Amino acid sequence: MKGFAMLRIGEVGWIEKDKPTAGPYDAICRPLAVAPCTSDVHTVWEGSIGERNNMILGHEAIGEVVEVGSEVKYIKPGDRVVVPAITPDWDTLEIQKGFHQHSGGCLAGWKCSNIKDGVFGEFFHVNHADMNLAVLPNDIPLEVAAMMPDMMTTGFHGAELADIQLGDTVAVLGIGPVGLMSVAGAELRGAGRIIVVGNRPVTIEAAKFYGATDVVDYKDGDIVEQIMELTGNKGVDASIIAGGTPSAVADAVKITVPGGTIGNVNYFGEGDTLPIPRLDWGCGMAHKTIRGGLTPGGRLRMEKMIELVKNNRVDPSKLVTHVFNGLEKSEEALMMMKDKPRDLIKPVVII
Ligand code: NDP
Ligand code: ZN
Repeated sequence: MKGFAMLRIGEVGWIEKDKPTAGPYDAICRPLAVAPCTSDVHTVWEGSIGERNNMILGHEAIGEVVEVGSEVKYIKPGDRVVVPAITPDWDTLEIQKGFHQHSGGCLAGWKCSNIKDGVFGEFFHVNHADMNLAVLPNDIPLEVAAMMPDMMTTGFHGAELADIQLGDTVAVLGIGPVGLMSVAGAELRGAGRIIVVGNRPVTIEAAKFYGATDVVDYKDGDIVEQIMELTGNKGVDASIIAGGTPSAVADAVKITVPGGTIGNVNYFGEGDTLPIPRLDWGCGMAHKTIRGGLTPGGRLRMEKMIELVKNNRVDPSKLVTHVFNGLEKSEEALMMMKDKPRDLIKPVVII
């Protein structure tokens, strides 16, 4: 079978591989819709998680199950399924500790396009199919469903990590597709004021749609000054980092009030350290919590994403600005994610 792969750091291309095989608890799927992720861009062009050779890219997919192992009970061949970006092994000690994202080691629940071939191939492998795949209702369109495996769950996780409470003033730093779902997540959790930081009009318009009350343009000067001015020098109760450079961590510490929480879902691709400003962190004593997390995955989480869409609590269709047809277009879609044209939020490839 063919697949679009990371050949080595900085280089991508099409390769031939054997079709994957299913162990007793696994499934083999063919992709129906896939989307490239900014994380694929970090992985390939920044080499952020180290060298990977001839690894098929992609971890956001809606698939059709073509084969299941002998012990798979709930998932059946022919099912249309949401395939989460995070597909842990559900039988490890890390699961008992409550962090399935790190089942088997730090970030090891993220398998596709990290530690095994991803979804930009004619077929792909899913471990522990009954625990990792959610059956997609027929009436949810593929390009909308394609926002569930990663964009929705990650953006919402930003709002969970930041522990948004009813009426909170929240800042969302970065309003690409992930940050936009953080805005939607903050809104769902009952935020009062939602201040977003971005630049491109297409993302700003979408941010307002999802609940942003105030917009700060990071190209208009220091975002800390702008946010402090907007809040009458008080700062925000909670911050979500979903874009920007390591200095976003320092910015978040500066704008968040003592006792507040910073939720980071950004994938910092470069550098050895992240800055925490000493005085703004109360010389270490400000009770400002910084939490960073890989997005939750697995079947139950995807079923929750389905419920949110099915019941019109969130409309992820606003994220999808470009739709391609055919697996071969995953290359163009990934390059688009890398180059970020001004009218792009998120591309989807229908297969
Ligand atoms: P995008 O690149 O589409 O969005 C980034 C956003 O940050 C844009 O709104 C951009 O503004 C803004 N931005 C850029 N520079 C700055 C700056 N200096 N200060 C403030 N804002 C800035 O990314 P995605 O939404 O696709 O993904 C966001 C991050 O989440 C990525 O790092 C990605 O790898 C990561 N990620 C993490 C996951 C997890 O499990 N934790 C899962 C999936 C993704 P503009 O475009 O207008 O210039
Ligand atoms: Zn991703």
